[in-house]
Amino acid sequence: MRFNSKVIHAGQAPEETSGAVMPPIFQTSTYAQEAPGVNKGHDYARVTNPTRTALEKLLAGLEGGTDCACFASGCAAMDAVIKMFRPGDHIVASNDLYGGTYRLFTKVFEPMGISFSFVDMSRFENVEKSVNSSTKLIWIETPTNPLLNIVDVKKVTSFAKTKGILTIVDNTFASPYLQKPLELGADAVLHSTTKYIGGHSDVIGGAVISSHPDIIENMRFQVKTSGGVPGPMDCYLTLRGVKTLSIRVQRSCENAKIIAEYLVSHPKVAHVRYPGFKNHPGHKIAAEQMADFGAMVSFTLKKDDVPTAHKFMSSTHYFTLAESLGGVESLISHPASMTHGSIPAEVRHKAGLNDSLIRLSVGIEDFQDLIEDLEKAFSSI
Ligand SMILES: *Cc1c(COP(=O)(O)O)cnc(C)c1O
Repeated sequence: MRFNSKVIHAGQAPEETSGAVMPPIFQTSTYAQEAPGVNKGHDYARVTNPTRTALEKLLAGLEGGTDCACFASGCAAMDAVIKMFRPGDHIVASNDLYGGTYRLFTKVFEPMGISFSFVDMSRFENVEKSVNSSTKLIWIETPTNPLLNIVDVKKVTSFAKTKGILTIVDNTFASPYLQKPLELGADAVLHSTTKYIGGHSDVIGGAVISSHPDIIENMRFQVKTSGGVPGPMDCYLTLRGVKTLSIRVQRSCENAKIIAEYLVSHPKVAHVRYPGFKNHPGHKIAAEQMADFGAMVSFTLKKDDVPTAHKFMSSTHYFTLAESLGGVESLISHPASMTHGSIPAEVRHKAGLNDSLIRLSVGIEDFQDLIEDLEKAFSSI
């Protein structure tokens, strides 16, 4: 089955008792047993729920993994992944990372004895240098958030394999429509399904997809034991949303390209970060490992300060000022004071995350309206 058919059909079949085309919302906490231990494949809804199972099968299909475990949020999924490790273990992660990931690693797991190195993974030699005999996992995010650097997934995963280190890619920014990390050698893929997969800014969720037997077993164990699972209504909404993934992401990418080009030519813009530009340092790798260059565009202003950025962002109408990304509607955000507020200023600046950096999540509206909207905001600063 090809990808655009998979987003509709992978792992899906009409529901058995009624023939319902969409999986019903199985709003139940438990399941009747005919005799102790004899059931229809489900015993308690923390462990499995048919609506969740339908979503898991679909996401496993999209990423090309043998199994998927869904969680109540992207953060719950990340939490489960790091709980595979033990005090003394070392994890290498990108230094330009989703702010919540950085917070989880440094505020929850570091005090428990797991150590982390945060490195600029767009330079492979940094990855090589940072691993040691305790390194158990390399956590890749590409394109990175919000600087849109590109990590060479094949290069990092093949290096990790020679060292017996596991790799996981947070594929939230690209979505499986654009990038398939398991095919590039990763052991697991993680999603905040809140973003492109759900696609409509109406539900929170997370997922881990893998074909690695130990990872799958551990994720299943944690679903059952820690229980950070999504409810059936949330799974239904995510399933509903993901069915249009291909056309949404395709349109968003087209719009993002046009907007990136508009920004580059704007006199008040200092620098535009968009992997689709030939002069982007990761352009060649992005062209190899992604189907298109994504719908996220970040840029800095010539007047590089927080008040100017804030003024700009309060002046748009279609670009809604909000955290998050990947929905049908365009969003605008200020990483330094919003998503990345929990990263200390000096760490931020070192990674190139300027005070005026503005991040756009380009939606599927008419690009002319989006450009007029940005033009209005530029005239306000
Ligand atoms: C949003 C996001 C997360 C966290 O997911 P939630 O669903 O908000 O918990 C993790 N990684 C990336 C790249 C994200 O954008």
